[in-house]
Amino acid sequence: MSFLLACPFCGPRPVDEYAYFGEVTKRPSGSPTLRELTEYVYFRDNLAGVQREWWQHRAGCGEWFLADRDTRTNEVLEVMLPESRKTS
Ligand SMILES: [Zn+2]
Repeated sequence: MSFLLACPFCGPRPVDEYAYFGEVTKRPSGSPTLRELTEYVYFRDNLAGVQREWWQHRAGCGEWFLADRDTRTNEVLEVMLPESRKTS
């Protein structure tokens, strides 16, 4: 299946130009247990719905960014730069 994904710098491009790195996960804070660490490293929610994901425009500018994508329809609702890359 193919769809368009908008790079924050290059605009809409075919999804084949991108590399997908999975849903955004939240690192456990403090002193996590072995179980919490195992869940963080190996388990994913695999939602049927809108999830925030990591993408890289590998065949374009190379930028890493986040996208909110509906996994049922591949509709991309929003793309954004990670907090660490925002300027202002
Ligand atoms: Zn790009």
